[in-house]
Amino acid sequence: MTTAFTQATYLAAAVAFILSLKWLSRPPTARRGLLVGEIGMALAIVGTLVHREIISYEWILVGMVAGTAVGLPLAVFMPMTHVPQRTAVSHAFGALAAALVGTAEYYLRPGELGTFTMTVLSLEVILGYLTFSGSLMAFGKLQDLVPSRPVVYRGQNVTNLALLFGVLLIIPIGGADMPTVIALLNSYAGLSAAMMGFVLDNKLLIVAGALDGSSGFILSVIMCRAMNRSFANVLFGGFGQVPVSAAAVEPRSVRSASPEEAAEILGASSAVVVVPGYGMAVAQAQHKVRELYDALTKRGVEVRFAIHPVAGRMPGHMNVLLAEADIPYDRLVEMEEINPDFPRTDVVLVIGANDVVNPAARHDPASPIHGMPILDVDQARTVMVIKRSMAPGFAGIENEIFYLDKTMMLFGDAKTFVGEIVKELASARGAA
Ligand code: NDP
Repeated sequence: MTTAFTQATYLAAAVAFILSLKWLSRPPTARRGLLVGEIGMALAIVGTLVHREIISYEWILVGMVAGTAVGLPLAVFMPMTHVPQRTAVSHAFGALAAALVGTAEYYLRPGELGTFTMTVLSLEVILGYLTFSGSLMAFGKLQDLVPSRPVVYRGQNVTNLALLFGVLLIIPIGGADMPTVIALLNSYAGLSAAMMGFVLDNKLLIVAGALDGSSGFILSVIMCRAMNRSFANVLFGGFGQVPVSAAAVEPRSVRSASPEEAAEILGASSAVVVVPGYGMAVAQAQHKVRELYDALTKRGVEVRFAIHPVAGRMPGHMNVLLAEADIPYDRLVEMEEINPDFPRTDVVLVIGANDVVNPAARHDPASPIHGMPILDVDQARTVMVIKRSMAPGFAGIENEIFYLDKTMMLFGDAKTFVGEIVKELASARGAA
């Protein structure tokens, strides 16, 4: 039984979580959403700590100190580019906690559990362990510890259907589908927590778990739509091994250009679309990109940013980075909206993006990303690509864009290269 105080804090926490989700869904209110979510979590912890069934606080204290000792440095020192991996790890441990609580309840209350409790407890434990191992695999793929290409094996679908091991569930998922899977694992972790709420008769856990489970599920549906995939396709497809295409083997030449040449063409254009990708995040080039935006806008060039739903390594990754650099939000255009504009665009400047602009998704049925909607940058008059080498992106495949006659490869680190273009634009203006 919970005290009136605990119940009141739980109720307030549940309201805070709902408001937090509502506010987090829009960039202008996202900070407020985060704060309210944190307050909700603090209330939930306080309400739980005064629970009168707690006999001793020693182990709780040990857990809190150990958790803080790991969590705090992780939050402070972890680079932004590692947020997806970190999220995968938090899903893993959250789910493990739910599964362990379920296991402990089973052994603590032998013979006492009715059919309903046993059913939800089983679901909690299955989803918990599945999410734990699955999220660890997702972490491994994002951290490049496990190959991000799909690893397929005989009898794969039968094993997955048995839902025995998250490891076996995640291994066959190809790079480009990881965003959907991460959202789905998020949903499983939430559902497991909701089940734990039923087992422990804790209403706040039910509410918070249900919110987490359903929002994760909605996000997976959104990501599936954005990737033009069905759930069954993501989970059971595997997409075969990444084929080594003939084009990949044949040596082909590319046209590289200097910051000076790039600046000259950009400065003389009237419509430029910037396509940011994971490389912009790695280089932390967003502030230099803002300077470039300012320099071009001052010259009367119309600059917009094309946002692909899975660019980077987490949903909304590019929106967050560009907002951090104070790029006006109305300059960010979604994929479906900007795609028809590419034929009228003078220059597309691709900054550290690769898979999300790969035309193989449109026409190569053998490609592991076939069917995924992409930004049709190849239809622009000139394409500039800033990257350090000819290395592939997350899905590990060649990109024919680099070899087009209209493409200029701008080899270098995104932050440095964009900075040099800005300098060139400034000196050209000074000389004029
Ligand atoms: P990609 O991973 O396809 O490509 C990134 C490119 O950036 C690479 O080709 C790399 O080339 C370049 N790069 C890396 N570092 C730098 C640097 N310092 N300066 C300049 N360039 C750099 O990125 P995209 O954003 O196009 O696509 C995202 C991919 O990640 C998709 O496959 C997506 O499915 C997957 N994914 C997305 C998630 C999400 O939620 N958004 C989650 C998990 C996976 P080089 O090494 O030559 O510099």
